[in-house]
Amino acid sequence: MPSAEIITIGTELLLGEIQDTNTRYIARFFRNEGIDLYRTTMIGDNENRITTTVLESLSRCDIVITTGGLGPTVDDPTRNAIARAVGTELEFRPELWEQIKQRFERFGRIPTENNKKQAYIPMGAVAIENAVGTAPAFYCRAENGLIISLPGVPKELEYLLENEVKRILSSQFNNKYVIQTFVIHTSGIGESVIDEKIADLEILSNPTVGIVAYPGQTDIRITAKALNKTKALKMISNVQETITSRLGGFIFGFNEDSLETVIAKLLLNMNLKICLIEQGTNQILKQLLEKFNILFTDTQKVNPADLENAENNLENFYKKINPNILLFVKLAQTNDKSASLSVQIFHNEERFTKFFQFGGHDNLAITWAANTTLHFLRSHLIQN
Ligand code: ATP
Ligand code: MG
Repeated sequence: MPSAEIITIGTELLLGEIQDTNTRYIARFFRNEGIDLYRTTMIGDNENRITTTVLESLSRCDIVITTGGLGPTVDDPTRNAIARAVGTELEFRPELWEQIKQRFERFGRIPTENNKKQAYIPMGAVAIENAVGTAPAFYCRAENGLIISLPGVPKELEYLLENEVKRILSSQFNNKYVIQTFVIHTSGIGESVIDEKIADLEILSNPTVGIVAYPGQTDIRITAKALNKTKALKMISNVQETITSRLGGFIFGFNEDSLETVIAKLLLNMNLKICLIEQGTNQILKQLLEKFNILFTDTQKVNPADLENAENNLENFYKKINPNILLFVKLAQTNDKSASLSVQIFHNEERFTKFFQFGGHDNLAITWAANTTLHFLRSHLIQN
């Protein structure tokens, strides 16, 4: 059985400003994976001490997981410290820089030169794509064992443990078990409501059931460990059936499905096109939907100026251009901690209107608005 230590990095932890919840999460993760945890350490954002602590830990155990210090600022020293611990230097990875830029784009933001630092990882390290944040994580082999460096943000850490580290550990430690995962995607239902509905499943130890919340979308991940793939899949399908029976219509897809691919499929099957008017969303819906050939883009009938002025006269605009569906979306950010979204669907001579409120961080509002709109549209299409 492999052994491990945890090192949480962050001066704010030592100052007592925030509580270290990552250690507890990783400790449980190790327990579930059958890995012995020997010791945990908390240190500040200091490159020398990180290097020394990592080397000390590796003299006692096989695996070290660090959290924190992977951000874009100078007080994020983990990358350098690990490079020194394995006796190498940092190296720029263009593909990581691409991922970071794409991630920012999705949030409607532009990365700074500082963010480029996050595309540097120790030479020989393997990058771990961070699908829920901007800081890429990585793992590398040191003389005495394996170092895995993960972001400090708890949601990102938890996601990467379940989705990446599990797989990495089983490949590195010659585990005789296979691990299979299956993801159920939901929208229109909050993380805490799901949590209540499937609390009994979340405490299972094999398969495990975990919830990952995104703005406007919540995923449920089922992970099974068994001696072969068929057995693992069978274990997953039992749990999947239970979850489907409890969450029904909130489930919009599985694994690779996304709200936009599901909507596109529906519209293509129904042979419908959408005239889309978005305000305050950085055109995110257009970006998500335009590749599917489901947008009404007859420039003879609609010119951009018409779109800008349409809000006050949507009814007439709908009648005039007569698309199958007119979708009007307006996101208003009231302050940095709340946003409101109004969505109007014109379809079959009728208007369907709905307002939504968002209380999360402002840089998530656009993603939330896109997912919330697509959820509303999907519900509408299924009912009509
Ligand atoms: P980022 O890319 O967001 O900067 P990072 O890897 O640099 O991520 P840190 O800057 O160290 O991580 O931490 C980011 C935030 O995550 C902290 O402000 C803190 O709120 C939270 N955090 C960090 N470490 C822990 C921990 N051990 N337990 C709980 N929360 C933590
Ligand atoms: Mg940071």
